[in-house]
Amino acid sequence: MPNSRPKIRRRRRTKIIATLGPASSTPEILARLFQAGADIFRLNFSHGTHEDHAARFAMIRELEEKVDRPIGILADVQGPKLRVGQFSGGRVFLQTGQAFLLDLNPTPGSAERVNLPHPEIIEAAGIGATLLLDDGKLRLRVTRKRADGLETEVVVGGPLSDRKGVNVPDIVLPIPALTVKDRDDLAFAVEHGANFIGLSFVQRPEDVAEAKELVAGRAWVMVKLEKPQALDNLDAILRLTDAAMVARGDLGVELPPEEVPLAQKRIVRACRALGKPVVVATQMLESMISAPAPTRAEASDVATAVYDGADCVMLSAETAAGQYPFEAVNMMDRIVARVEQDPGWRAGIDASRPDPEHATSDAIAAAARQISHTIGAAAIVAFTASGSTAVRVARERPEAPIIGLTPNLDTARRMAVVWGVHAVVTPDAHSLSEAVTRATRVAHTEGFAKHGAEIVVTAGVPFGQAGSTNALRVATVR
Ligand code: PGA
Ligand code: MN
Repeated sequence: MPNSRPKIRRRRRTKIIATLGPASSTPEILARLFQAGADIFRLNFSHGTHEDHAARFAMIRELEEKVDRPIGILADVQGPKLRVGQFSGGRVFLQTGQAFLLDLNPTPGSAERVNLPHPEIIEAAGIGATLLLDDGKLRLRVTRKRADGLETEVVVGGPLSDRKGVNVPDIVLPIPALTVKDRDDLAFAVEHGANFIGLSFVQRPEDVAEAKELVAGRAWVMVKLEKPQALDNLDAILRLTDAAMVARGDLGVELPPEEVPLAQKRIVRACRALGKPVVVATQMLESMISAPAPTRAEASDVATAVYDGADCVMLSAETAAGQYPFEAVNMMDRIVARVEQDPGWRAGIDASRPDPEHATSDAIAAAARQISHTIGAAAIVAFTASGSTAVRVARERPEAPIIGLTPNLDTARRMAVVWGVHAVVTPDAHSLSEAVTRATRVAHTEGFAKHGAEIVVTAGVPFGQAGSTNALRVATVR
């Protein structure tokens, strides 16, 4: 039966995440963000109540039904963000060169001292350790340790106010990546149908293992790489996680700015090698918070992530709290689509393709890319129960669009983060010939293949067994 609904098909491979917030919390605004190009919505659990987030989950799922396309939801949990306590006047000024004490005393602070309600940090910081306050604007150095506090010298002074953040780049925090609040938020998000759990301030592989255990397969775990310590353990962390984010906001506080581009490239390369979807995030179109057009440097930054082969680019305050949320998504969509038309982009992607791993599914994925390239196939249609086959095909970064066919709606939603995959929910086939017939029909009705076009189909035979992709067929759309 022909489907008369107009089919929504993105004209780019790299996906877009839009963060929701005060500037984006009505059904109308969500619909416009989706139309402009948002593939995933991000709920930031550093802000807002569970009630606010529950309303957004419901709105997104209503929109999903209306547009008849799977939409991914990323629930980003805050992690152990360290903060100073309060000041009696709300605010003080620290002079460069003065002494300043961070202690366990909860009474309001002054220009001489303030509460740091984290005994573990006071314990772990050695003499000479750096503490960064308020996103790195102020810098302190530990000069003496006390049982109940750290004496410091102000290396870079400035104003400091209540509850500002503290970053400790030299110290492996002896605390888990999930606080009590995070566990509560994680449980809430998974219950409400989040497809990805963003894990902040991951430092160790154990942090990932713990989150994976709590999530128990109900969502993908996305580690946010924003601590230099995580970069020391990068491979071990990436092997355990389902996806990753280059969280340049906090990473850029803990590392000097000149190190951030290198870290970004290293992380994207490592993720591509392992076939883990990777998001480049934070300040991508920052000036669009208050201006209708980005700076040239920002356009170039988005382009760089696409040239590097990231799966996804992300907007934070631009869509959560900015004045131009639709313009920001639309601009990101235009930059991504333009880069992907550049023959130099394709050449770079091909040159940086990692070798297949020694597994049948990778052999099939590599063959699918090679064959689709040789015959100019209109699409690669991958049957995928868990999403893993579609991810392995995406790892090949083929020229042909990838259609991920899955009986599982949650798998389809997870595909929203994967480079080049257009997911469609369809019942499982019972035989290879039925699968091929279904694949050609979907490729046609979804607007990817005209009559007479060829497609490449991958599947696992017998059907209904996850992780068993072992068959490849070339088929013509009749
Ligand atoms: P955040 O994470 O916005 O939750 O801090 C992203 C980042 O640090 O870049
Ligand atoms: Mn962060």
